[in-house]
Amino acid sequence: ENILEIKNLNKVYPDGTKALKNINFKAKKGEFIVVIGPSGAGKSTLLRSINRLSEPTDGEIIFLGENILKANKGKLRKIRRHIGMIFQGFNLVKRLPTVRNVLHGRLGYMSSIKGAFGMFDKNDVQKALEVLERVGLEEQAFKRADELSGGQQQRVAIARAINQSPSLILADEPIASLDPNSSQIVMDYLRKVCDEDGLTTIVNLHQVDIAKEYADRIIGVKDGEIFYDGSPRGLTDEV
Ligand code: ADP
Ligand code: ADP
Repeated sequence: ENILEIKNLNKVYPDGTKALKNINFKAKKGEFIVVIGPSGAGKSTLLRSINRLSEPTDGEIIFLGENILKANKGKLRKIRRHIGMIFQGFNLVKRLPTVRNVLHGRLGYMSSIKGAFGMFDKNDVQKALEVLERVGLEEQAFKRADELSGGQQQRVAIARAINQSPSLILADEPIASLDPNSSQIVMDYLRKVCDEDGLTTIVNLHQVDIAKEYADRIIGVKDGEIFYDGSPRGLTDEV
Protein backbone atom coordinates (compact mmCIF):
# COMPACT_ATOMS: atom_id res chain seq x y z
CA GLU A 1 0.00 0.00 0.00
CA ASN A 2 1.02 3.61 -0.44
CA ILE A 3 2.44 5.31 2.65
CA LEU A 4 2.91 8.60 0.84
CA GLU A 5 1.38 10.26 -2.18
CA ILE A 6 2.51 13.58 -3.57
CA LYS A 7 0.20 15.31 -6.02
CA ASN A 8 0.89 18.39 -8.14
CA LEU A 9 3.28 19.82 -5.58
CA ASN A 10 4.67 23.30 -6.23
CA LYS A 11 6.99 25.50 -4.26
CA VAL A 12 7.74 29.09 -5.12
CA TYR A 13 10.07 30.87 -2.67
CA PRO A 14 9.24 34.48 -1.74
CA ASP A 15 11.96 35.74 -4.10
CA GLY A 16 10.18 34.03 -7.01
CA THR A 17 12.44 30.94 -7.27
CA LYS A 18 10.37 28.01 -8.54
CA ALA A 19 11.99 25.21 -6.54
CA LEU A 20 9.33 22.53 -7.23
CA LYS A 21 7.21 22.33 -10.37
CA ASN A 22 4.26 19.98 -10.36
CA ILE A 23 5.88 17.05 -8.53
CA ASN A 24 3.96 13.76 -8.48
CA PHE A 25 4.92 10.38 -7.02
CA LYS A 26 3.75 7.68 -4.65
CA ALA A 27 5.84 5.70 -2.17
CA LYS A 28 4.93 2.17 -1.09
CA LYS A 29 5.52 0.59 2.28
CA GLY A 30 9.10 -0.61 2.61
CA GLU A 31 10.44 1.16 -0.49
CA PHE A 32 13.95 2.59 -0.30
CA ILE A 33 13.89 5.58 -2.65
CA VAL A 34 16.87 7.76 -3.50
CA VAL A 35 16.25 11.23 -4.90
CA ILE A 36 19.18 12.38 -6.99
CA GLY A 37 19.95 15.59 -8.79
CA PRO A 38 22.52 18.36 -8.93
CA SER A 39 22.81 21.10 -6.34
CA GLY A 40 19.85 23.47 -6.57
CA ALA A 41 17.61 20.84 -8.22
CA GLY A 42 14.99 21.03 -5.47
CA LYS A 43 15.81 17.83 -3.53
CA SER A 44 16.03 19.49 -0.16
CA THR A 45 12.90 21.56 -0.73
CA LEU A 46 11.03 18.39 -1.72
CA LEU A 47 12.14 16.41 1.32
CA ARG A 48 11.49 19.29 3.73
CA SER A 49 8.04 19.80 2.22
CA ILE A 50 7.02 16.30 3.27
CA ASN A 51 7.03 17.19 6.96
CA ARG A 52 6.48 20.87 6.28
CA LEU A 53 9.85 22.16 7.38
CA SER A 54 9.38 23.96 4.08
CA GLU A 55 5.83 25.14 3.32
CA PRO A 56 4.72 24.14 -0.21
CA THR A 57 2.87 26.72 -2.31
CA ASP A 58 0.20 24.26 -3.48
CA GLY A 59 -0.51 20.60 -4.12
CA GLU A 60 -1.25 17.67 -1.86
CA ILE A 61 0.91 15.46 0.37
CA ILE A 62 -1.08 12.45 1.51
CA PHE A 63 0.69 10.61 4.34
CA LEU A 64 -1.05 7.60 5.91
CA GLY A 65 -4.26 8.72 4.25
CA GLU A 66 -4.23 12.35 5.37
CA ASN A 67 -3.32 15.54 3.56
CA ILE A 68 -0.43 16.93 5.61
CA LEU A 69 -0.85 20.35 4.02
CA LYS A 70 -4.29 20.69 5.63
CA ALA A 71 -3.12 19.71 9.14
CA ASN A 72 -3.23 22.29 11.93
CA LYS A 73 -0.34 22.68 14.36
CA GLY A 74 -1.44 19.97 16.80
CA LYS A 75 -2.15 17.52 14.03
CA LEU A 76 1.15 18.31 12.33
CA ARG A 77 3.02 17.58 15.54
CA LYS A 78 1.35 14.15 15.70
CA ILE A 79 2.13 13.45 12.06
CA ARG A 80 5.79 14.42 12.55
CA ARG A 81 6.17 11.75 15.24
CA HIS A 82 5.67 9.21 12.46
CA ILE A 83 8.40 10.72 10.31
CA GLY A 84 12.06 10.23 11.23
CA MET A 85 14.32 12.92 9.85
CA ILE A 86 18.07 12.64 9.20
CA PHE A 87 20.06 15.74 8.21
CA GLN A 88 23.42 16.36 6.61
CA GLY A 89 24.73 18.02 9.79
CA PHE A 90 23.56 15.19 12.15
CA ASN A 91 21.72 17.70 14.43
CA LEU A 92 22.75 16.01 17.67
CA VAL A 93 23.00 17.70 21.04
CA LYS A 94 26.80 17.64 21.17
CA ARG A 95 27.40 17.63 24.90
CA LEU A 96 24.80 14.97 25.71
CA PRO A 97 25.54 11.23 25.78
CA THR A 98 24.71 9.31 22.64
CA VAL A 99 21.90 7.39 24.32
CA ARG A 100 20.24 10.65 25.42
CA ASN A 101 20.32 11.89 21.86
CA VAL A 102 18.50 8.74 20.78
CA LEU A 103 15.87 9.27 23.50
CA HIS A 104 15.21 12.76 22.16
CA GLY A 105 13.79 11.25 18.99
CA ARG A 106 11.40 8.92 20.70
CA LEU A 107 9.74 11.46 22.89
CA GLY A 108 9.83 14.27 20.37
CA TYR A 109 9.03 17.67 21.80
CA MET A 110 8.36 16.08 25.19
CA SER A 111 11.93 14.87 25.50
CA SER A 112 13.37 18.16 26.64
CA ILE A 113 10.84 18.37 29.45
CA LYS A 114 11.05 14.72 30.44
CA GLY A 115 14.83 14.72 30.07
CA ALA A 116 15.29 17.83 32.15
CA PHE A 117 13.42 16.20 35.04
CA GLY A 118 15.10 12.81 34.62
CA MET A 119 11.83 11.22 33.62
CA PHE A 120 13.12 8.69 31.14
CA ASP A 121 12.20 5.30 32.50
CA LYS A 122 14.24 2.12 32.26
CA ASN A 123 12.26 0.85 29.29
CA ASP A 124 12.94 4.02 27.32
CA VAL A 125 16.67 3.71 28.00
CA GLN A 126 16.71 -0.03 27.29
CA LYS A 127 15.03 0.52 23.91
CA ALA A 128 17.43 3.30 23.01
CA LEU A 129 20.40 1.06 23.85
CA GLU A 130 18.97 -1.70 21.66
CA VAL A 131 18.62 0.65 18.72
CA LEU A 132 22.21 1.87 19.22
CA GLU A 133 23.30 -1.75 19.09
CA ARG A 134 21.52 -2.11 15.74
CA VAL A 135 23.74 0.62 14.28
CA GLY A 136 26.87 -0.88 15.88
CA LEU A 137 27.30 1.76 18.56
CA GLU A 138 26.68 -0.12 21.80
CA GLU A 139 30.20 0.80 22.96
CA GLN A 140 29.53 4.51 22.36
CA ALA A 141 26.21 4.72 24.21
CA PHE A 142 27.50 6.75 27.14
CA LYS A 143 30.04 8.87 25.31
CA ARG A 144 29.26 12.47 24.52
CA ALA A 145 27.96 12.85 20.98
CA ASP A 146 30.82 15.18 20.04
CA GLU A 147 33.41 12.53 20.98
CA LEU A 148 32.20 10.40 18.07
CA SER A 149 33.40 10.55 14.47
CA GLY A 150 31.15 12.08 11.81
CA GLY A 151 30.07 8.69 10.53
CA GLN A 152 29.29 7.50 14.05
CA GLN A 153 27.29 10.67 14.75
CA GLN A 154 25.20 10.06 11.67
CA ARG A 155 24.56 6.50 12.88
CA VAL A 156 23.31 8.01 16.15
CA ALA A 157 20.98 10.19 14.09
CA ILE A 158 19.75 7.05 12.30
CA ALA A 159 19.19 5.37 15.68
CA ARG A 160 17.28 8.44 16.91
CA ALA A 161 15.03 8.39 13.85
CA ILE A 162 14.41 4.62 14.11
CA ASN A 163 13.71 4.84 17.85
CA GLN A 164 10.71 7.03 17.07
CA SER A 165 9.07 3.92 15.51
CA PRO A 166 8.27 5.98 12.41
CA SER A 167 6.41 4.98 9.24
CA LEU A 168 8.66 7.08 7.04
CA ILE A 169 12.33 8.07 7.13
CA LEU A 170 13.52 11.20 5.34
CA ALA A 171 17.28 11.66 4.97
CA ASP A 172 18.51 14.90 3.44
CA GLU A 173 22.05 14.43 2.06
CA PRO A 174 23.02 12.21 5.02
CA ILE A 175 26.53 11.48 3.71
CA ALA A 176 27.41 14.80 2.11
CA SER A 177 29.90 15.71 4.84
CA LEU A 178 31.44 12.23 5.24
CA ASP A 179 34.45 10.58 3.62
CA PRO A 180 33.78 7.71 1.16
CA ASN A 181 34.48 4.97 3.69
CA SER A 182 32.17 6.40 6.38
CA SER A 183 29.57 7.10 3.70
CA GLN A 184 29.42 3.41 2.79
CA ILE A 185 29.10 2.37 6.42
CA VAL A 186 26.33 4.90 7.08
CA MET A 187 24.41 3.88 3.95
CA ASP A 188 24.81 0.18 4.86
CA TYR A 189 23.31 0.76 8.32
CA LEU A 190 20.57 3.02 7.01
CA ARG A 191 19.51 0.46 4.43
CA LYS A 192 19.76 -2.41 6.94
CA VAL A 193 17.68 -0.90 9.74
CA CYS A 194 15.05 0.44 7.34
CA ASP A 195 14.72 -3.02 5.76
CA GLU A 196 14.50 -4.69 9.18
CA ASP A 197 11.65 -2.39 10.17
CA GLY A 198 9.97 -2.41 6.75
CA LEU A 199 10.24 1.37 6.56
CA THR A 200 9.56 3.56 3.59
CA THR A 201 12.70 5.65 3.17
CA ILE A 202 13.50 8.66 1.00
CA VAL A 203 17.13 9.69 0.81
CA ASN A 204 18.52 12.73 -1.01
CA LEU A 205 21.91 12.16 -2.58
CA HIS A 206 23.91 13.83 -5.29
CA GLN A 207 26.17 10.80 -5.93
CA VAL A 208 24.61 8.68 -8.68
CA ASP A 209 26.91 5.70 -8.07
CA ILE A 210 25.89 5.42 -4.42
CA ALA A 211 22.23 5.92 -5.33
CA LYS A 212 22.43 3.02 -7.78
CA GLU A 213 24.09 0.81 -5.19
CA TYR A 214 21.46 1.25 -2.48
CA ALA A 215 18.14 2.31 -4.02
CA ASP A 216 15.14 0.16 -4.89
CA ARG A 217 13.99 3.10 -6.94
CA ILE A 218 15.55 6.34 -8.08
CA ILE A 219 13.75 9.62 -8.56
CA GLY A 220 15.82 12.08 -10.59
CA VAL A 221 15.10 15.77 -10.04
CA LYS A 222 16.40 18.71 -12.07
CA ASP A 223 15.23 22.32 -12.12
CA GLY A 224 12.36 21.43 -9.78
CA GLU A 225 11.01 18.67 -12.01
CA ILE A 226 11.13 14.87 -11.99
CA PHE A 227 12.99 13.67 -15.08
CA TYR A 228 13.36 10.03 -14.02
CA ASP A 229 11.39 7.69 -11.79
CA GLY A 230 12.28 4.03 -11.93
CA SER A 231 14.77 1.27 -11.25
CA PRO A 232 18.45 2.06 -10.70
CA ARG A 233 19.29 -0.08 -13.74
CA GLY A 234 17.26 2.07 -16.12
CA LEU A 235 19.12 5.24 -15.21
CA THR A 236 21.70 6.30 -17.77
CA ASP A 237 24.95 7.86 -16.62
CA GLU A 238 24.36 11.32 -18.06
CA VAL A 239 23.00 12.72 -14.73
P1 ADP B 1 18.92 20.89 -3.69
O1 ADP B 1 18.56 20.31 -2.37
O2 ADP B 1 18.65 19.95 -4.82
O3 ADP B 1 20.30 21.44 -3.71
P2 ADP B 1 17.16 23.07 -2.92
O4 ADP B 1 15.82 22.48 -2.67
O5 ADP B 1 18.03 23.42 -1.77
O6 ADP B 1 17.93 22.11 -3.98
O7 ADP B 1 16.97 24.38 -3.80
C1 ADP B 1 16.13 24.43 -4.95
C2 ADP B 1 16.12 25.84 -5.49
O8 ADP B 1 15.48 26.70 -4.55
C3 ADP B 1 17.51 26.42 -5.69
O9 ADP B 1 17.42 27.28 -6.81
C4 ADP B 1 17.77 27.20 -4.41
O10 ADP B 1 18.68 28.24 -4.60
C5 ADP B 1 16.37 27.70 -4.11
N1 ADP B 1 16.15 27.95 -2.67
C6 ADP B 1 16.31 27.07 -1.64
N2 ADP B 1 15.97 27.63 -0.47
C7 ADP B 1 15.56 28.88 -0.78
C8 ADP B 1 15.07 29.98 -0.01
N3 ADP B 1 14.93 29.90 1.31
N4 ADP B 1 14.75 31.12 -0.64
C9 ADP B 1 14.88 31.21 -1.97
N5 ADP B 1 15.33 30.23 -2.77
C10 ADP B 1 15.66 29.09 -2.18
P1 ADP C 1 21.30 23.00 4.26
O1 ADP C 1 20.64 22.07 3.27
O2 ADP C 1 22.70 22.60 4.59
O3 ADP C 1 20.45 23.28 5.48
P2 ADP C 1 20.38 25.07 2.58
O4 ADP C 1 20.87 25.00 1.18
O5 ADP C 1 19.02 24.54 2.85
O6 ADP C 1 21.45 24.39 3.51
O7 ADP C 1 20.44 26.59 3.03
C1 ADP C 1 20.37 27.00 4.38
C2 ADP C 1 19.35 28.11 4.50
O8 ADP C 1 19.43 29.02 3.43
C3 ADP C 1 17.94 27.59 4.49
O9 ADP C 1 17.17 28.32 5.40
C4 ADP C 1 17.49 27.78 3.07
O10 ADP C 1 16.09 27.90 3.03
C5 ADP C 1 18.21 29.06 2.71
N1 ADP C 1 18.52 29.15 1.26
C6 ADP C 1 19.05 28.20 0.49
N2 ADP C 1 19.17 28.63 -0.77
C7 ADP C 1 18.69 29.90 -0.79
C8 ADP C 1 18.53 30.89 -1.78
N3 ADP C 1 18.87 30.68 -3.07
N4 ADP C 1 18.03 32.08 -1.42
C9 ADP C 1 17.69 32.31 -0.15
N5 ADP C 1 17.80 31.43 0.83
C10 ADP C 1 18.29 30.24 0.52
